[in-house]
Amino acid sequence: MAVSPSRIAALRGLRGRCPACGKGRLFAGYLKQAPACTDCGAATGEIEAGDWPPWLTVLLLGPLLAALTFIAARREAWPLWMRLAGLGSFAVGAVLILLPRIKGGLIGALWGMRPPA
Ligand SMILES: [Zn+2]
Repeated sequence: MAVSPSRIAALRGLRGRCPACGKGRLFAGYLKQAPACTDCGAATGEIEAGDWPPWLTVLLLGPLLAALTFIAARREAWPLWMRLAGLGSFAVGAVLILLPRIKGGLIGALWGMRPPA
């Protein structure tokens, strides 16, 4: 089964790589897009993901965090500070890990859906 070019581009973006070649870096910083690929020169900086990355991150993590909060609230044997510190650390860590990957995946998907030049 052949994988569509837009899916390949999205998977490359998920890894933070250029959606065109898969070798160059997509980001110049944590979330700052590089203006162009360092390897093939593709102008990936022109693709704007807008508000979708944080929106999707919240959409994915929200139900999970709600469930974990409910579970932690029922664990009365654990001290409150431990539950709050654990949930807070998990939430911040999960956002920091997911946000650039989701942004990269969206940029890659948008790159793959461009009309042919
Ligand atoms: Zn490239």
